[in-house]
Amino acid sequence: MDRKQFLSRSLKVSLGAIVAGPALASAASCNSAPEANDPTGETTPSAPALQLAQIALPYAYTALEPSIDAQTMEIHYTKHHAAYVKNVNEAIAAERVVAKDEADLLARIGSFSAKVRNNAGGVWNHNFFWQVMGPGPSTPLGAPGGKVLDALNASFGSFDKFKEAFTDAGMKRFGSGWAWLVERNGQLVIGSTPNQDCPLMDVSELKGKPLLALDVWEHAYYLKYQNKRNEYIANWWQVVNWDEVAKRMA
Ligand code: MN
Repeated sequence: MDRKQFLSRSLKVSLGAIVAGPALASAASCNSAPEANDPTGETTPSAPALQLAQIALPYAYTALEPSIDAQTMEIHYTKHHAAYVKNVNEAIAAERVVAKDEADLLARIGSFSAKVRNNAGGVWNHNFFWQVMGPGPSTPLGAPGGKVLDALNASFGSFDKFKEAFTDAGMKRFGSGWAWLVERNGQLVIGSTPNQDCPLMDVSELKGKPLLALDVWEHAYYLKYQNKRNEYIANWWQVVNWDEVAKRMA
Protein backbone atom coordinates (compact mmCIF):
# COMPACT_ATOMS: atom_id res chain seq x y z
CA MET A 1 0.00 0.00 0.00
CA ASP A 2 1.55 3.28 -1.03
CA ARG A 3 1.23 6.49 0.91
CA LYS A 4 -1.69 7.76 -1.17
CA GLN A 5 -3.66 4.56 -0.64
CA PHE A 6 -2.82 4.63 3.04
CA LEU A 7 -4.03 8.21 3.39
CA SER A 8 -7.15 7.42 1.41
CA ARG A 9 -7.97 4.44 3.64
CA SER A 10 -7.17 6.36 6.80
CA LEU A 11 -9.51 9.10 5.68
CA LYS A 12 -12.32 6.66 5.01
CA VAL A 13 -11.88 5.13 8.45
CA SER A 14 -11.71 8.52 10.13
CA LEU A 15 -14.96 9.58 8.51
CA GLY A 16 -16.54 7.08 10.84
CA ALA A 17 -19.16 5.95 8.37
CA ILE A 18 -18.23 2.35 8.84
CA VAL A 19 -18.38 0.62 12.16
CA ALA A 20 -17.62 -3.05 12.02
CA GLY A 21 -18.64 -3.82 15.56
CA PRO A 22 -16.07 -6.15 17.13
CA ALA A 23 -18.05 -6.42 20.36
CA LEU A 24 -21.15 -7.54 18.51
CA ALA A 25 -19.18 -10.03 16.48
CA SER A 26 -17.55 -11.69 19.46
CA ALA A 27 -20.88 -11.87 21.27
CA ALA A 28 -22.39 -13.53 18.23
CA SER A 29 -19.63 -16.10 17.89
CA CYS A 30 -20.05 -17.15 21.54
CA ASN A 31 -23.64 -18.07 20.80
CA SER A 32 -23.19 -19.56 17.36
CA ALA A 33 -24.42 -23.08 17.95
CA PRO A 34 -24.49 -24.05 14.25
CA GLU A 35 -20.77 -23.43 13.95
CA ALA A 36 -19.98 -25.36 17.10
CA ASN A 37 -21.86 -28.32 15.63
CA ASP A 38 -20.37 -27.94 12.17
CA PRO A 39 -20.28 -31.52 10.87
CA THR A 40 -17.15 -30.83 8.86
CA GLY A 41 -15.36 -30.10 12.08
CA GLU A 42 -13.90 -26.99 10.56
CA THR A 43 -14.05 -23.82 12.55
CA THR A 44 -15.50 -21.02 10.48
CA PRO A 45 -15.55 -17.94 12.67
CA SER A 46 -18.23 -15.57 11.48
CA ALA A 47 -16.94 -12.31 10.05
CA PRO A 48 -18.07 -9.20 11.91
CA ALA A 49 -21.34 -8.08 10.38
CA LEU A 50 -21.04 -4.84 8.46
CA GLN A 51 -22.82 -2.04 10.22
CA LEU A 52 -23.41 1.42 8.84
CA ALA A 53 -23.55 4.47 11.09
CA GLN A 54 -24.46 8.13 11.17
CA ILE A 55 -21.64 10.62 11.45
CA ALA A 56 -21.99 13.12 14.28
CA LEU A 57 -23.58 16.25 12.83
CA PRO A 58 -20.62 18.65 12.41
CA TYR A 59 -22.68 21.66 13.64
CA ALA A 60 -25.79 22.55 15.64
CA TYR A 61 -29.32 22.11 14.23
CA THR A 62 -29.58 25.91 14.17
CA ALA A 63 -26.30 26.41 12.28
CA LEU A 64 -27.75 26.51 8.77
CA GLU A 65 -30.49 29.04 9.61
CA PRO A 66 -32.05 30.77 7.83
CA SER A 67 -31.41 28.67 4.72
CA ILE A 68 -32.38 25.46 6.51
CA ASP A 69 -34.42 25.80 9.70
CA ALA A 70 -33.47 24.02 12.92
CA GLN A 71 -36.62 21.92 13.12
CA THR A 72 -36.08 20.54 9.62
CA MET A 73 -32.44 19.76 10.46
CA GLU A 74 -33.34 17.99 13.69
CA ILE A 75 -36.09 15.85 12.15
CA HIS A 76 -33.98 15.14 9.10
CA TYR A 77 -30.99 13.97 11.17
CA THR A 78 -32.69 12.26 14.12
CA LYS A 79 -35.67 10.71 12.32
CA HIS A 80 -35.07 10.29 8.59
CA HIS A 81 -31.34 9.65 8.58
CA ALA A 82 -31.46 7.59 11.78
CA ALA A 83 -34.19 5.41 10.26
CA TYR A 84 -32.05 4.61 7.22
CA VAL A 85 -29.27 3.48 9.57
CA LYS A 86 -31.60 1.27 11.63
CA ASN A 87 -33.26 -0.20 8.53
CA VAL A 88 -30.09 -0.96 6.60
CA ASN A 89 -28.49 -2.68 9.57
CA GLU A 90 -31.62 -4.78 10.08
CA ALA A 91 -31.62 -5.72 6.40
CA ILE A 92 -27.91 -6.54 6.37
CA ALA A 93 -28.43 -8.90 9.31
CA ALA A 94 -31.68 -10.44 8.04
CA GLU A 95 -30.35 -11.03 4.54
CA ARG A 96 -26.89 -12.06 5.74
CA VAL A 97 -25.29 -9.51 3.46
CA VAL A 98 -21.55 -9.98 3.19
CA ALA A 99 -19.53 -6.92 2.18
CA LYS A 100 -16.03 -5.80 3.05
CA ASP A 101 -17.08 -2.28 3.90
CA GLU A 102 -19.56 0.43 2.95
CA ALA A 103 -17.83 1.20 -0.36
CA ASP A 104 -17.89 -2.48 -1.32
CA LEU A 105 -21.58 -2.68 -0.40
CA LEU A 106 -22.45 0.33 -2.60
CA ALA A 107 -20.36 -0.94 -5.50
CA ARG A 108 -22.35 -4.22 -5.49
CA ILE A 109 -25.69 -2.87 -4.31
CA GLY A 110 -27.51 -4.31 -7.34
CA SER A 111 -27.01 -7.79 -5.86
CA PHE A 112 -29.06 -6.99 -2.78
CA SER A 113 -32.66 -6.21 -1.94
CA ALA A 114 -34.44 -2.89 -2.47
CA LYS A 115 -34.43 -2.45 1.31
CA VAL A 116 -30.64 -2.67 1.43
CA ARG A 117 -30.27 -0.40 -1.62
CA ASN A 118 -32.62 2.32 -0.44
CA ASN A 119 -31.41 2.43 3.14
CA ALA A 120 -27.68 2.05 2.45
CA GLY A 121 -28.01 4.94 0.02
CA GLY A 122 -29.94 6.90 2.63
CA VAL A 123 -27.13 6.43 5.14
CA TRP A 124 -24.29 7.33 2.79
CA ASN A 125 -26.02 10.23 1.03
CA HIS A 126 -26.95 12.00 4.26
CA ASN A 127 -23.51 11.50 5.85
CA PHE A 128 -22.12 13.16 2.74
CA PHE A 129 -24.76 15.90 2.63
CA TRP A 130 -24.09 17.02 6.24
CA GLN A 131 -20.41 17.37 5.47
CA VAL A 132 -20.74 19.49 2.34
CA MET A 133 -22.78 22.08 4.21
CA GLY A 134 -21.69 24.39 6.99
CA PRO A 135 -22.61 27.47 8.94
CA GLY A 136 -22.13 30.55 6.82
CA PRO A 137 -20.41 30.79 3.48
CA SER A 138 -16.82 29.58 3.53
CA THR A 139 -15.84 32.49 1.31
CA PRO A 140 -17.66 35.80 0.81
CA LEU A 141 -20.99 35.66 -1.03
CA GLY A 142 -21.29 31.90 -0.68
CA ALA A 143 -19.10 31.35 -3.71
CA PRO A 144 -16.18 28.98 -4.01
CA GLY A 145 -12.64 30.16 -4.58
CA GLY A 146 -9.34 28.70 -5.65
CA LYS A 147 -9.24 25.40 -7.48
CA VAL A 148 -12.99 24.76 -7.11
CA LEU A 149 -13.86 28.01 -8.82
CA ASP A 150 -11.25 27.36 -11.51
CA ALA A 151 -12.64 23.88 -12.15
CA LEU A 152 -16.26 25.08 -12.28
CA ASN A 153 -15.32 27.92 -14.64
CA ALA A 154 -13.42 25.52 -16.89
CA SER A 155 -16.24 22.93 -16.98
CA PHE A 156 -19.34 25.10 -17.02
CA GLY A 157 -18.21 28.54 -18.22
CA SER A 158 -18.84 30.36 -14.94
CA PHE A 159 -19.98 29.79 -11.37
CA ASP A 160 -23.41 31.20 -12.24
CA LYS A 161 -23.78 28.78 -15.14
CA PHE A 162 -22.77 25.92 -12.86
CA LYS A 163 -25.38 27.00 -10.29
CA GLU A 164 -28.01 27.22 -12.98
CA ALA A 165 -27.28 23.72 -14.29
CA PHE A 166 -27.11 22.20 -10.80
CA THR A 167 -30.37 23.93 -9.79
CA ASP A 168 -31.95 22.61 -12.96
CA ALA A 169 -30.88 19.05 -12.07
CA GLY A 170 -32.50 19.45 -8.65
CA MET A 171 -35.67 21.00 -10.05
CA LYS A 172 -36.12 18.41 -12.80
CA ARG A 173 -35.68 15.40 -10.51
CA PHE A 174 -39.31 14.28 -10.43
CA GLY A 175 -40.39 13.10 -6.99
CA SER A 176 -37.69 12.28 -4.47
CA GLY A 177 -33.98 12.21 -5.09
CA TRP A 178 -30.69 14.05 -5.15
CA ALA A 179 -28.79 16.51 -7.34
CA TRP A 180 -25.06 15.86 -7.66
CA LEU A 181 -21.78 17.24 -8.87
CA VAL A 182 -19.48 14.29 -9.53
CA GLU A 183 -16.05 13.75 -10.99
CA ARG A 184 -15.84 11.09 -13.67
CA ASN A 185 -12.74 10.35 -15.73
CA GLY A 186 -11.32 13.73 -14.80
CA GLN A 187 -14.49 15.56 -15.88
CA LEU A 188 -16.99 17.38 -13.70
CA VAL A 189 -20.54 16.16 -14.32
CA ILE A 190 -23.88 17.44 -12.99
CA GLY A 191 -26.80 15.03 -12.66
CA SER A 192 -29.39 13.58 -10.35
CA THR A 193 -30.49 10.26 -8.91
CA PRO A 194 -33.93 9.01 -7.85
CA ASN A 195 -34.81 7.94 -4.30
CA GLN A 196 -31.64 7.23 -2.30
CA ASP A 197 -29.49 6.07 -5.20
CA CYS A 198 -25.92 7.27 -5.00
CA PRO A 199 -23.30 7.74 -7.76
CA LEU A 200 -21.13 5.12 -6.04
CA MET A 201 -23.72 2.41 -6.71
CA ASP A 202 -23.26 -0.05 -9.56
CA VAL A 203 -26.92 0.47 -10.50
CA SER A 204 -26.91 4.27 -10.44
CA GLU A 205 -27.98 6.13 -13.58
CA LEU A 206 -25.35 8.76 -12.64
CA LYS A 207 -21.92 7.42 -11.71
CA GLY A 208 -18.78 9.14 -10.44
CA LYS A 209 -17.01 10.41 -7.37
CA PRO A 210 -19.39 12.68 -5.45
CA LEU A 211 -18.14 16.24 -4.84
CA LEU A 212 -21.40 17.97 -3.88
CA ALA A 213 -24.94 16.78 -3.21
CA LEU A 214 -28.32 18.33 -2.58
CA ASP A 215 -31.22 16.43 -1.04
CA VAL A 216 -34.40 17.35 -2.94
CA TRP A 217 -36.75 15.04 -1.04
CA GLU A 218 -39.68 17.05 0.31
CA HIS A 219 -38.63 16.12 3.85
CA ALA A 220 -35.53 18.27 3.30
CA TYR A 221 -37.50 21.50 2.83
CA TYR A 222 -41.26 21.16 3.22
CA LEU A 223 -41.61 22.60 6.74
CA LYS A 224 -40.07 25.90 5.73
CA TYR A 225 -40.59 26.08 2.00
CA GLN A 226 -43.65 23.86 1.43
CA ASN A 227 -43.83 23.15 -2.31
CA LYS A 228 -41.25 25.80 -3.25
CA ARG A 229 -38.26 23.62 -4.05
CA ASN A 230 -36.83 26.48 -6.13
CA GLU A 231 -36.59 28.77 -3.07
CA TYR A 232 -35.01 26.02 -0.99
CA ILE A 233 -32.34 25.48 -3.63
CA ALA A 234 -31.76 29.22 -4.08
CA ASN A 235 -31.13 29.68 -0.33
CA TRP A 236 -29.14 26.46 0.03
CA TRP A 237 -26.20 27.94 -1.88
CA GLN A 238 -25.46 30.10 1.18
CA VAL A 239 -24.61 27.03 3.27
CA VAL A 240 -22.51 25.03 0.82
CA ASN A 241 -19.16 24.26 2.40
CA TRP A 242 -16.82 24.79 -0.54
CA ASP A 243 -13.79 23.81 1.53
CA GLU A 244 -15.24 20.30 1.79
CA VAL A 245 -15.91 20.23 -1.96
CA ALA A 246 -12.27 21.26 -2.54
CA LYS A 247 -11.04 18.39 -0.33
CA ARG A 248 -12.90 15.90 -2.48
CA MET A 249 -11.54 17.21 -5.78
CA ALA A 250 -8.58 15.30 -7.13
MN1 MN B 1 -33.09 13.42 3.30
